[in-house]
Amino acid sequence: MREISHAQFEHGTARGGRGPIDPGSLTASSRDAISQLSQTGWRFLILAEIANFGVLRRHLGRPRVDSLIVDVAARISEALPDARVVIAGRDVAEVAFECEARLALDVSIAALEVAFERAFDIDGESHTIQIRLGGAAAAGHRDEVHLIEEAEFALSEARTERSPIARDATGNTAAIDRAELAEDLTKAIEREELFLQYQPKVHLRRQEITSVEALVRWNHPTRGLVLPGDFIPLAEESRDIVALTLWTIRQSIKDQKTLADHGHDLRIFINIAGVLLADTCFVRRACALVEASGARLGFEITETSVIRDPDSAIANLKVFAEIGIVIAIDDYGAGLSSLAYLKQLPARELKIDKLFVTQLTSSNRDPLIVRSTIDLAHALEMEVVAEGVETQAAMALLSVMGCDMIQGFLISRPINLDALIHFMEDGKYQAMAADLRAPFSRLATVWKRG
Ligand code: C2E
Ligand code: MG
Ligand code: MG
Repeated sequence: MREISHAQFEHGTARGGRGPIDPGSLTASSRDAISQLSQTGWRFLILAEIANFGVLRRHLGRPRVDSLIVDVAARISEALPDARVVIAGRDVAEVAFECEARLALDVSIAALEVAFERAFDIDGESHTIQIRLGGAAAAGHRDEVHLIEEAEFALSEARTERSPIARDATGNTAAIDRAELAEDLTKAIEREELFLQYQPKVHLRRQEITSVEALVRWNHPTRGLVLPGDFIPLAEESRDIVALTLWTIRQSIKDQKTLADHGHDLRIFINIAGVLLADTCFVRRACALVEASGARLGFEITETSVIRDPDSAIANLKVFAEIGIVIAIDDYGAGLSSLAYLKQLPARELKIDKLFVTQLTSSNRDPLIVRSTIDLAHALEMEVVAEGVETQAAMALLSVMGCDMIQGFLISRPINLDALIHFMEDGKYQAMAADLRAPFSRLATVWKRG
C-alpha cells in the first residue's frame, strides 16, 4: 500500500470550491440539511478501480500497466486535493476524507467522473482510463470496518450497474444484513424453515400438465417470506448450496411420491446452481438419492454455469441424464450462450427466459428472437418451454410459433403441494390451454409488427 497524499479536509466548508463540496452551489434546503449534520460530521471512503485494466494491459504491456495506478492516484489527488489517497492494489485506489455534509460523497464522485473524462498521456500516447467508483458514507461514530465493507459492496454494485454507486453505512447496512442472513441460512435447513412451491408447465398440444418446477422459499422467523433471489447467491458463496439442494432433492422425491399417489405422476424439475455442476461429491450424493428413490426428476441448469467449467459440467450432466434425470436449460438467452456447448449438452428441454416472453406481444424484436430460438431448439431435438407467460395473447403467439410448453402466472403462480393437487384435480387449466382461438385476430397484427 502506498500513500500519495495526506492532506485532510478542513471541517466546515471546503476551500475555494476545490474540495469535494462547494457550499455556494447548494440550494437553501441542502444548506439547512448540512447545518443539521454539522454536529455529527461524516467520514467517506471511495474505492476507485481501473475498469479497463485488461484492455490497457494489452496496449501498454505489463510493466507499464502495473504502475498505472500511480497515475490514477495522482489524478484523484488533483481532483480532490483534501483527500487521502492510498494505492490498495494494482488496479484499486482508496480515497478517504471527512466532511460535515453527507452530500460531499456525491459531489466528490461526480468530481472524479469529470476528472477521468480527460485522457492520460502515457509514454507519448493518449489513453482513456475508465474508472469505476464505489463510495460509502458513515456518520462519525460508525466503525471503520463498516465503512470499508459498505464501500466494497458499493464497488461490486458499480461493477454490475456500470455506474458509480454511493452507499450509506449508517443504518443496518446491506453488508451486515447479508452477513446476518447468510448466518441464519445455515440453521434454516435444520429448523425446517425452507419449503417448496411448485409451478406447473402446460404442454400446449397435449393440453396437459406434464411437469412442475420446484421453487424454494424461506419462511424466516423475523423477516417473513424470503424469496430465492435474496438467499441463493448467499448460499452459493457460503457453500450452504450443497445442503440446500440435497434437501430440495429429498423433499421433491417425497412430494413426487405424494403426487403419484394422488394419480398425478408429474416430473419435478429442480434448479441446480452452477457451482454444483463441478462438485463431484454433490453429484455422487444427488445420484444416490435419485437412484434409490426411482422418482421422476429433472434438473434445470443455466448455460452460463456450463461455460465456467465445461468439461466437468458436461461430464456430470451426462451422469445425471444416464440415470433418467431430464436436463433442462434454464433462462436461455439471459446469460452467456455458446452454440458449441449447447449442442454437446444432454438436454431435452430449453426454457426461454421470461425476459423475452413477458415483452412478446409489445416488442418488435422479441417475437423474432423467440421464434428463432424455438427453431434452433427443435433442430437440436429439444422441446421448448416459454417461462413468464402472463397473458392469453402471449400463449396464443407461442402456440403459433410452435412452442411446446408454457409456464407462467397465466397458468398458475408457484403454489404449495396441497394447492397443486387441488389445481390438478380442478382441470381449469385445460380449458385455458384449449382457448387459443380468442386472441388470434389480435395476434395477426402483433406478428406483422414483429
Ligand atoms: P427460475 O428457475 O427461472 O424460476 C422462475 C422464476 O420466475 C420464479 O421466481 C417464478 O416465480 C417466476 N415466474 C414464474 N412465472 C412468472 C411469470 O409469469 N411472470 C414473472 N414475472 N415471473 C414468473 P422465484 O421463485 O423468485 O425464483 C427465482 C430464481 O431463483 C429461479 O429462477 C431460480 O434460478 C432460483 N431458484 C429457485 N429455487 C431454487 C432452488 O431450489 N435452487 C437453486 N439453486 N435456485 C433456485
Ligand atoms: Mg428454473
Ligand atoms: Mg428460469
